[in-house]
Amino acid sequence: MFEFRISIFLFSTLVIFCAATINIDFVEVNSFEEENDRSSASVVVKDPSSHDRDNECENDNYDCHLAKAIHQSMDTETDPCSDFYTFACGNWNNHSDFPSWRPFKQLHVRNDDRLKRLLEKPIVQFNLTLRGKCSQIHFPSLIEALAENNDDENTKINVTDKTPIPETREKQSSCNVAVVTIGPSSWEVRDKIQTKMESSSNSFADISNVAQFDAVSKARRFYKACMEAKNGEKDGRKFAIDELLTDRVVWKPTSRDGSWNDHDRDLFTMKLAKVHQHHDRLFFGPRTIHLSRRSKTDPEFTIILFQQSFRDSVMPYSAKKSAKVEKKLVEKYERYIKDVWQSIGFTFKDTNSFRGVRNLDEFARRIVEFEKEMSKNALKRLLPSKSALAKNSLDIDQLQNKFPFLNWKLYFKTLFSFDSHLKIDEDQPIIALDFDYFKSLNDLIVSSSQQDIMTYMRFELLATLASQLPNALELSPFKPSDPHTKRSSVCVKWTDSAFGFATGKIMEDGSPHNRQYLELLTNNILTSFEENIETVSWMTDLAKKKSKNKAKSIKENIAVPDFVFDSRLDRFYEDFDVSQNDNYVTLFTRFKRWLLQRNLRQINGRATDTSWPVEMPPDSVNAFYNPSRNDITVLAGIMQPPFFTPESAVSAVQYGGIGVVIGHEIIHGFDNHGANFDKEGFNHPLFKGSDQEQFHHLTQCVRDYYKKFSVLVDGKSVRVDGKRTEAENIADIGGTKVAYHAYLNSVEKDGESRNELPFYGFNGKKLFWLSYAQLWCEKKTPRQLRKQLKSDSHSPGAVRVLGVLQNLQEFSNDWQCDSKAQMNPRKKCTIWD
Ligand SMILES: [Zn+2]
Repeated sequence: MFEFRISIFLFSTLVIFCAATINIDFVEVNSFEEENDRSSASVVVKDPSSHDRDNECENDNYDCHLAKAIHQSMDTETDPCSDFYTFACGNWNNHSDFPSWRPFKQLHVRNDDRLKRLLEKPIVQFNLTLRGKCSQIHFPSLIEALAENNDDENTKINVTDKTPIPETREKQSSCNVAVVTIGPSSWEVRDKIQTKMESSSNSFADISNVAQFDAVSKARRFYKACMEAKNGEKDGRKFAIDELLTDRVVWKPTSRDGSWNDHDRDLFTMKLAKVHQHHDRLFFGPRTIHLSRRSKTDPEFTIILFQQSFRDSVMPYSAKKSAKVEKKLVEKYERYIKDVWQSIGFTFKDTNSFRGVRNLDEFARRIVEFEKEMSKNALKRLLPSKSALAKNSLDIDQLQNKFPFLNWKLYFKTLFSFDSHLKIDEDQPIIALDFDYFKSLNDLIVSSSQQDIMTYMRFELLATLASQLPNALELSPFKPSDPHTKRSSVCVKWTDSAFGFATGKIMEDGSPHNRQYLELLTNNILTSFEENIETVSWMTDLAKKKSKNKAKSIKENIAVPDFVFDSRLDRFYEDFDVSQNDNYVTLFTRFKRWLLQRNLRQINGRATDTSWPVEMPPDSVNAFYNPSRNDITVLAGIMQPPFFTPESAVSAVQYGGIGVVIGHEIIHGFDNHGANFDKEGFNHPLFKGSDQEQFHHLTQCVRDYYKKFSVLVDGKSVRVDGKRTEAENIADIGGTKVAYHAYLNSVEKDGESRNELPFYGFNGKKLFWLSYAQLWCEKKTPRQLRKQLKSDSHSPGAVRVLGVLQNLQEFSNDWQCDSKAQMNPRKKCTIWD
């Protein structure tokens, strides 16, 4: 067996999203049960509504709008020391339509809308060759000069090359700078600027090499192809019949009765490997997985084979539902199978179906039976635990002995054939997740006729492709969460998935974020954390030194990676061809292939050229910490209210919003998982001996504390899983604390010129806590909430507010909550005291 220690690298994300319906239901959170009756605390914030009536906000007074939005969400009747969540969020559901302060789902929608507009807008990039040394470029004047020459108010101009100029370029006598114009008449604007620059003897720049980033063009073509996709001939039927079915899932068995022999098994193996180049999972799917390492010589990635995804209607665990509900689900699924089959122009005659099956109804039933048999030992959790990974690792020979339904050497050889750089060693560890599933799969395939296997493969591929076509939404028995989901939303989503860095660039060009400010904020929060480590009472000097070194080594990725602004962006997508006439189904399968190719290259040490994960486009509303690289990433998508309000100068709101996000991700490097990794991302625990004991004791305290929270779902009290949510709760408490102290430091250093928002009388400290709490205002349906409590590593919003603030003495001090107040329990769990 293999000696290295396996632990899956999972992003520790700040937020998760429910794609389900957004019907509004009330959610009640029972607070702690440990303390007895508590009297109401003495501090009540003065009701500012009278001021509100007297003061309407000027249009451009953003802070005034912000103050109103904060206040409108609050229930000022509730005592903040008794239940701060209700105090901060009690009216959240009823507030006005001010464009801030929306739940995550709506932040996504807003980003998607913006991206849609930008994808549909003309965009032109050209290069300016500037005379004189690069180091002498003054970007603000350049932008100003360009803007003066742009008399089209609908067109935006951006100079995108604002990265620090390397020394070698500084010495050059001229310098190229990329300029992007976005707007309805980009080309005309570019021509006008060129004419004016050329005619001016004092101009400091020449326009040359009119160009557009290839990657951006590809993203636009991809989106356009998606929007133009048809259900009929071009994208569905012709492609499916001519190219896909014949080429990918049909072979000629040599055995007369359809049973398996070595030759036919090899034919099946090659077909399946080819299918896997373009298709996530059929029977199973190959990917690489990151391993935690103890040194540079340990392998960084290995191959993992994931089980196929199954619909709820066939999964055994959902059989817990009543027989009636299950029957209904199965009926819906059978209807869907028939609809999909017919929607692409197939009749039963065409099906080349299962043996003995006589009509389409029987065909649908057989698909369901087949999937039920395959999934009987399927894992419920798609993300494996550490122990599952370690237990299910084999080399190719062992894989062959255990699961002989495929010729595994031939499988990997064929799978890797699309890239001459890919190869697999004999002793390459492969994780088959998990053995029980592969055993069932093996038995099912060897006991099925080859004809049946081909039929199932064809159905599964068609179902995947059908899901990409415009009528997919009507076909689906499991209707999209939002009934207003439009084709354009689907196309924006897929374009973003396929060309996340190109779309990130488009978004960033359209509205540049204040990266400099966010970098400063991050540095202030890191400094505050380092100061905090110094004062922690339970750590030995050695643990403090190691922790500080790790904190100092944290690298930060803010908004979008630098490489999107230069030619590296095109290189990133150079293996992904998108030509003008490609239809969408072709592009979609090509995208899947490109993604797999990038992913598999990692096992041969050809890691991606970016530390940003391809799967997480920069405009996602999220942030994460990566323990193996010891870096935090705060994506451009989260840099909008309520997390970040670029227009506002009120620092308490920024620190209580995006500041807490940054703090949260930093603390992930020191939570119960992150503390197992050193500053270089190797698997060496930060804490040993007495430090480890103390750390364990304190994390246990957090775990026990959150276990006491329960949430009412459909009138039934459901407890929070303190163990599963442990790392996130630790990151919430620690992250909020360090962001708060960074805020205090900033006030001490720079003064607090605008510490109070207009009209409402909250000082900066109170605003910090309100901003934090309002990040988590939410209303969820019982179904969403039940799902979150069952499987999410994050606590529900109200618990994230109450759990954090009850454990921070700073909160109670600022709101003057006395020792009897519900928000100020005597026992507090603070790791970073
Ligand atoms: Zn987190």
